[in-house]
This record gives sequence, C-alpha cells and structure tokens, in this order.
Amino acid sequence: MRALPATELLSVWESGHNRVPLQRALIMLAAACPEASADSLAQLTIGRRDAHLLALRERTFGSELTGVTDCPECGAKIELTFNASDIAPPLHAEPANGLAVRANGREVRFRLPNSADLLAAKSEEELFERCLLNGRDRLTENFRAEVGEKMLCADPLADIHLALNCPNCNHRWEAPFDIVAFLWREISAAAHRLLREVHTLASAYGWTESEILSLSSARRHAYLEMVNG
Ligand SMILES: [Zn+2]
Repeated sequence: MRALPATELLSVWESGHNRVPLQRALIMLAAACPEASADSLAQLTIGRRDAHLLALRERTFGSELTGVTDCPECGAKIELTFNASDIAPPLHAEPANGLAVRANGREVRFRLPNSADLLAAKSEEELFERCLLNGRDRLTENFRAEVGEKMLCADPLADIHLALNCPNCNHRWEAPFDIVAFLWREISAAAHRLLREVHTLASAYGWTESEILSLSSARRHAYLEMVNG
C-alpha cells in the first residue's frame, strides 16, 4: 500500500468520475494495490476493501479526517475531526470455510459479501443466495432472517459508525461513515486542484501536462507562487 502520486490520482478521478460508488471503490482499490489482480480485489469482503481504502486515505491525505454534519436534534452545523485509527478496528482473519449459523440442530454456512457480489446481485435476496455455501434446503423463513442478520454483523468494518456529540444541545447519536464517498470527494477535489495548477503553469511556461505533473509538489508550488506573484 502506498500514497497516490499526482498522475495516478488524476487517472483514478478520470476513470471513476462517471461510475457508481461500487465501481469507484474498486478503481481506488486497484490504485492502492497495484500488485493485486482485479479479480482478487473484487473478492475482498467489504470490510477489507474499506480497510485498504482507509489506509490509502491515510497515506495520501494524512490520518486526520474532518467533515461537517448537522445535529439531528437542533440543526446546528458541527465540524468533526477524527483519526483514521479511531474507526479502523483490527481485522481478524475470516475462516476459510466460511461462517456458520446453527439453530434447531441445523447448520447453514455462508461467506461475507464482497464487491463482485454487490455488483452482480439485483436484490438482497440474490445477494443472500450468492453468499450461502450450503444448506439451501434447510432454510426456513426464521432461519433465513437469522443468517441474514449474522451475515451483516460478521464484518466489523463493513458498517463504520461515528459516535457524535452536539456541543450546542448535548445530543448524542451515531452516524454512519462512508469511506468510499469520503475518499472519492477528496480525490475529486485534489484532481480539480491539480488540473487548475497544470492550467496555470502551462499557460505561463508552455510546459506539457506530463512535464508539470512530474514536478514534485514543492517545485510545482514554488513556480505557482512566482506566476501568481
Ligand atoms: Zn444539537
């Protein structure tokens, strides 16, 4: 896992800007793990995918994350600052033969959903079917609900929540944190910043885009200061 250089950050933005979030997640993941095949990345559980994206975020933009949200009680705007380590629980290895639910002497085995499952499944029902490893014939309605619930809870990182506290009215609540949307917004903003810098330097010096992007960020900013006086 490594930080994204300027040229790759722009390619990620270019490939992902007209895609759905699930595909954007895979594009960012591929840039973060260039040694892994597309297939193996699509087969990471959502929790593992998000752990890699969080690590990529940390390396590219730092470990401090900030955001703004509204208090659901009094409507006050709240600025949040938290650390990547606050929301990254330790990853435990998933058992190779899947997870199991037992009830009334029956056992059903299933695996955790991954990006390929989420892209392929048209409904929750279909997602559930894809992840079942055995015991389709043993599923009663109640048992099915229990397996579904366990499937959702078994991946600790797949559903990250932040504990929030409003300084205005003291209301406490939990808000979901979506690393895919968060990181995509940052990559998109950084890509637009870079394109503006390329535009300014190309206009001033006649350099090509690749020449400008190959400069270190320190040099690029030194030239930008001179151009902007
Ligand atoms: Zn409040």
